[in-house]
Amino acid sequence: MVDLDRFKDINDIHGHQAGDAVIRETAARLAAEAGADNIVARLGGDEFAVIIAHTSDIDELQGFGDRLLAAMAYPIDIGHGEQVNISVSIGGALCPENAGDVDALIGCADVALYHAKNAGRNACRTFKPGMNELIEKRRALEVDLEIALQRGEFELYLQPRVEAESAIIIGYEALLRWVHPKRGMISPGDFIPVAEASGKIIRLGAWVLAEACRLLDDIDGHISVNVSPLQFRHADFVADLADLLKSTGADPHRIELEITESVLIEDDKRAVQILNDLKRMGFHIALDDFGTGYSSLSYLSRYPFDTIKIDRSFVNNLNLVDNAQIIVRTIIDLGTGLGMKVVAEGVETTEQALFLAHAGCDELQGYLLGKPRKLGEITREIDPAIATQLRNVPKKLPEIQDYPTFEGETYQPLLHSHA
Ligand code: C2E
Ligand code: CA
Ligand code: CA
Repeated sequence: MVDLDRFKDINDIHGHQAGDAVIRETAARLAAEAGADNIVARLGGDEFAVIIAHTSDIDELQGFGDRLLAAMAYPIDIGHGEQVNISVSIGGALCPENAGDVDALIGCADVALYHAKNAGRNACRTFKPGMNELIEKRRALEVDLEIALQRGEFELYLQPRVEAESAIIIGYEALLRWVHPKRGMISPGDFIPVAEASGKIIRLGAWVLAEACRLLDDIDGHISVNVSPLQFRHADFVADLADLLKSTGADPHRIELEITESVLIEDDKRAVQILNDLKRMGFHIALDDFGTGYSSLSYLSRYPFDTIKIDRSFVNNLNLVDNAQIIVRTIIDLGTGLGMKVVAEGVETTEQALFLAHAGCDELQGYLLGKPRKLGEITREIDPAIATQLRNVPKKLPEIQDYPTFEGETYQPLLHSHA
């Protein structure tokens, strides 16, 4: 398996024609290196596969991979006299030594490729037993997931979301927890990807939504629910939600669905349709992890979000990285300007909370204000000392309408809308 490193950058920086030229040249170089007895194929995108016949020696395989790396080591012409440098990552496996059938063989080569990428790219790795420990662990987890669904080993924890100005808790985010009978608490970061890869996220997500509706009776305010891209795109998602509302009598105005940018990347029309349906039904929609994707800005103007959640990495950086404050302020102004509520997550220190409140952030979420806890133990009111400080944050000054007068004249802002 041969995969171009950072191919997306070529497309983004030099355009698709340059990308095409790189693909063509890569194919030519791989084919030249492989020779007439062997097969080179493009699997799609920037992925290639090479089949070399009559090799059962791992060193030979490694040597071949290293020759491919060398063949890619000089620049590629992309037309108009321009050249780019690109490298590949390679994973190799032997049949039948590593795997007996096609799928398993590709799987082994993929595992090796993963290790090559992890080694910093521009590398070739061959499969070794034990390399797929990660994959085996995942498979075990996948089996356990099914059992856990049947046995009801999942639980929703609730983390408060606090209105910055009043310091009042106005809702909770539902965060999934798996209490594994042998392994204890497993983080969603570990099992959500497995649930997504195996398709079990659909049932798990449906359970989360039903449980969130049930929890509404026991809390004040709204509940935010994370929706996985797979779940969002599932053909029955909207219809199932309508059924759920009917059967539970839950008020959709109290439910916010948190989605990430990755939901929106492909076939926009369908995503917009789903979002519009959900809004019509009364749900609020939040864009989660704002700022971590690559097209955040363009999505904001195209989709009807009620809320954006500034990713916690930005909040984290507030006291560390120089321009983090400027970025956070700008996101807040942008969201506010577009009529969206802005929420900051991952707020851990009073300093961060006060900065955000002062910058005009509507809501705060984070360990400082309350950790995710099970229903019986949730935070119902935030620490009074922090609440007092938040309430004392001076209100943001109103926007300046006119520039200061000069010799009796008023300078009008030079901003005109060209809509
Ligand atoms: P997320 O949606 O970004 O959720 C926020 C994560 O930040 C949670 O991690 C929360 O415990 C953590 N967090 C909250 N405050 C702080 C803080 O002050 N400092 C730090 N360092 N972390 C904080 P958690 O619960 O481990 O969830 C991780 C991710 O798993 C979530 O990220 C979400 O993407 C996913 N997830 C959780 N529950 C569900 C679910 O029901 N469905 C789906 N599809 N995904 C879920
Ligand atoms: Ca979230
Ligand atoms: Ca988030």
